[in-house]
Amino acid sequence: MKDLDRVVAEIAEEMRTRPDRGRVADYIPELARADASAFGIAVVDASGHVAAAGDCDAPFSIQSISKVFTLTLALGMVGDRLWSRVGREPSGSRFNSIVQLENEHGIPRNPFINAGAIAVTDTILNGHQPREALGEILRFMRFLADDNQITIDAAVAASEQRTGYRNMALANYMKSFGVIQNPVNFTLGVYFHHCAIAMSCRQLAMAGRFLAHSGRNPATGYQVVQPERARRINAVMLTCGHYDGSGEFAYRVGLPGKSGVGGGILAVVPGRASIAVWSPGLDDSGNSHLGRIALEKLTKRLGLSIFGL
Ligand code: GLN
Repeated sequence: MKDLDRVVAEIAEEMRTRPDRGRVADYIPELARADASAFGIAVVDASGHVAAAGDCDAPFSIQSISKVFTLTLALGMVGDRLWSRVGREPSGSRFNSIVQLENEHGIPRNPFINAGAIAVTDTILNGHQPREALGEILRFMRFLADDNQITIDAAVAASEQRTGYRNMALANYMKSFGVIQNPVNFTLGVYFHHCAIAMSCRQLAMAGRFLAHSGRNPATGYQVVQPERARRINAVMLTCGHYDGSGEFAYRVGLPGKSGVGGGILAVVPGRASIAVWSPGLDDSGNSHLGRIALEKLTKRLGLSIFGL
């Protein structure tokens, strides 16, 4: 991709010195330790070339970005039956909101809000022990990123396990409707741990390649999912990947993307590239403030928006 290395380096430099950096999440105490001055970016293009800059090799807590991969795994296990347990419409509410669940009989709006992701995790857990389900998720991440060094940050998982009262409320509430089938503490244990996977921008961009290339890893030729499934996962990322900030992200960036409260964003340029950015400070919707700004600049300068130049 022409000018990719130069533009990525420029953006990292611009982000390094910006004074507006958002607010680091502190409702999971361990996440509050993140350094607000960090910024990293990595772009893998279709040829496998990686343009990376800033703190692109520093591992961070991927949090809700893991939900893209658990969705992929759950669809692989139960196919379209998954959609009887979770919807695929934008919620317009915060990522940890409980309000819609009562009106909608315990069926979460989409797989990326917390309630939906917990229901997806419960699907992966069916017929397995929590340890096996978690191992499956971690192996999938390592396989996609082609990197066996990826691990779970046990301190982050324990921190959320101690303080995740809202997620406990969501899971118990869904359990009362029969939407959660396993013991709530098992499902949440797996959920908290997959959110606590630590990865760098480089690793995450590598893991996202299959979504940018019709379900196939262009480096190995391995078909991870069918093209139709990759297209549909991208569609859900576009409409739901940034919670109540999804409209704004589509408007400004114009790519399917998924954020996490660790400050990471994975974005997909269909046919062209997989991108990961990281800056721990968040905006009011819980999405990386500088991460979104950096992606906006990148898509603008390189003409990458799916909606045109
Ligand atoms: N583990 C976090 C939570 O459940 C994930 C939220 C997020 O990244 N938006 O609150």
